[in-house]
Amino acid sequence: MTDSKYSIMLFRCDLRLMDNAALFSANDFGEILPVYIHEPSENITHDWSIGGASQWWLHHSLQHLNEQLTSVSQPLAYFKTTPHKAISSILINLCEKNGCTRIFWNRRYEPHHIEHDKALKMELKKHDIEVHSFNNNLLSEPWHQFTKQGTPFKVFTPYWRHCKNRFATDLPVPIPLSKPDFRTPKKTWHIEDGLSLQELELLPSNPDWSKSINVQWQAGEQSAQQKWEEFQESSINHYDEARNIPSISGTSLLSPHLAFGEISTRQIWHDATQLQMHNHTRTDDLNRYLSEIGWREFSYYQLFHFPDLPKNNFNPRFDKFHWDTNNDLLKAWQQGKTGYPLVDAGMRELWQTGYMHNRVRMVVASFLCKDLLIHWQEGAKWFWDTLLDADLASNSASWQWCAGCGADASPFFRIFNPITQSEKFDAAGIYLRKWLPELAKLSNKHIHKPWEAPIEALEQAGIVLGKTYPYPIVDHKLARLEALDRYKDLKTLES
Ligand SMILES: Cc1cc2nc3c(=O)[nH]c(=O)nc-3n(C[C@H](O)[C@H](O)[C@H](O)COP(=O)(O)OP(=O)(O)OC[C@H]3O[C@@H](n4cnc5c(N)ncnc54)[C@H](O)[C@@H]3O)c2cc1C
Repeated sequence: MTDSKYSIMLFRCDLRLMDNAALFSANDFGEILPVYIHEPSENITHDWSIGGASQWWLHHSLQHLNEQLTSVSQPLAYFKTTPHKAISSILINLCEKNGCTRIFWNRRYEPHHIEHDKALKMELKKHDIEVHSFNNNLLSEPWHQFTKQGTPFKVFTPYWRHCKNRFATDLPVPIPLSKPDFRTPKKTWHIEDGLSLQELELLPSNPDWSKSINVQWQAGEQSAQQKWEEFQESSINHYDEARNIPSISGTSLLSPHLAFGEISTRQIWHDATQLQMHNHTRTDDLNRYLSEIGWREFSYYQLFHFPDLPKNNFNPRFDKFHWDTNNDLLKAWQQGKTGYPLVDAGMRELWQTGYMHNRVRMVVASFLCKDLLIHWQEGAKWFWDTLLDADLASNSASWQWCAGCGADASPFFRIFNPITQSEKFDAAGIYLRKWLPELAKLSNKHIHKPWEAPIEALEQAGIVLGKTYPYPIVDHKLARLEALDRYKDLKTLES
């Protein structure tokens, strides 16, 4: 095929126009066709097809991206793979019909995506189609950062110390509005076999559980930018302290936007650095926020260097750990019916909104792994399906951290006490009352442990334990001792 002035921009985990390196560069070569190709789970060979909550987000994010593209350039063309039509054949067909010789995309870092993209690149090359790929999801390529010994970092603090001055050295790129081929496209594209967004079938139908999520969230780049603006103007100034309080808006709530690439961490990094230079924000708050972005980066770094992270214990000692299989306990945890109010409030927040506060994520994860002694992978799977921000790197790394088997993990013997965590971080029970209305009338003293409330207090609050709210499914003190015993067993097995 001869060189042409037509290219394809393949959107994947970068559903934005601002600071989109592949999109920006593609427009240097002439006109582009923006494309999104959905791979339904039945056509996927790996275990990590997109979860239910994320599919909902994806639908709305694509809708928003298409509206933006239509208003400034060329609408998004949608396709879907079938058992007989792989991504490569869709792209080759599009290139042939439209005379395109180049495809632009931003890189993905999940092991199955890396493999897939390598094979795709080779296949396209066979058809004389060039691929131009860019880093647009991370602050630094994971293969650029190593310890002095040339090995990958395993501990966050030295990684962070090493990287923070090396991150995001390039400036974010603007929306390519200055490029005439983007602003005034002329070509009529042959996309007769393209689909509508509805035909991608991303929305839940029977039952439609998305109503409460709809109220709370707005997907898309515009909403991401607005949230980031608002956060810089207000909450970032108290972040260091406020980020631990689940009842207030103390965090940026950007995670689903970041998971779908609706805003880049490079932009966040540069904006935050500007704030710091102009002394607009307390250093402690800003550094803490940037270090959380650093944890996201470190999660991707771990996933790249240890591709088995979603499947295997990072610390192989834990391969011999004796986990329990108990579907009743797992179900009680998933449904927010453990009898421990902070755990239940978190799990119900997750079910109803597709989100859970980070402090509560740590508590519910510790409870599953250490009180119920259920394998961290069961929790990771549930989160994968129910979180709007489900992200293979952060989810796998965080679950392993909580279970004690991850890189730089919280030690196994650090077992969160769901009662004291509740008393400390939600002393007035505001978060508990929001998600557990059946406990709303209990006093602040008793709401964290209703089973210890006097019978009159329960009666006055309209609570019948075992009926309107469950008794604790395990005794935390005994469960903790059992977990520590199992941990000791590991040492015995090793000696
Ligand atoms: C068991 C468990 C599972 C998790 N699964 C996910 C997941 O699938 N996807 C996900 O994005 N986050 C996950 N997290 C990390 C964290 O809980 C969320 O990123 C955070 O709650 C999102 O809220 P926010 O955007 O308001 O965060 P902010 O506090 O405003 O932080 C800003 C950004 O930094 C990143 N970040 C913050 N904390 C972490 C962290 N501990 N690890 C990695 N990145 C972090 C996120 O991208 C976040 O949006 C998990 C944490 C735990 C304990």
